[in-house]
Amino acid sequence: MITCAADNCPSTQDTRIDGNLITLFPFPEDDQRKNQWLRNCDLLLSDDEPLYLCELHFEESYFTESKDLKPNAIPTIFDKKEELLIKQEEIMSQTTPPKQKQINELTLRTPPQSPFVQDNVSLFFI
Ligand SMILES: [Zn+2]
Repeated sequence: MITCAADNCPSTQDTRIDGNLITLFPFPEDDQRKNQWLRNCDLLLSDDEPLYLCELHFEESYFTESKDLKPNAIPTIFDKKEELLIKQEEIMSQTTPPKQKQINELTLRTPPQSPFVQDNVSLFFI
C-alpha cells in the first residue's frame, strides 16, 4: 500500500478524485530536490521506505499536459505550511523599521539659519 507522506493527508494509492485514481509521485532521486521536498513536508530523510506525495500538494503549473510532474516541481500546498507562511509575513511587516520615512523627514527640514542672520534679527527688535 502506497500512502502519501504529507502530514494529515489521507491519500493512498486507492484514493479517487472525481472517480479517477489519485496520482502519487515518488520523491526525486536528486538529493538537493529530495531535501527540498522533505523540508516542505516537514519530514526527515528516511532510507527505510520509499516516500510518495500525492498530486494534491503540487500547484497546477507544476504538471505537464500528461499529468506528469515537471522536473522542477516542488510540493507547496500544505494546510499547515500556508498558515505558517501567513504568520511569517505578518511578523515581517510588523518589525520592518520605517527607515524611508525618517530619511524623508530629515531631508525636508530647512537648514538652520546662520548665527550672523539671527544676531541681526535680535538686534533689530531691541
Ligand atoms: Zn497527499
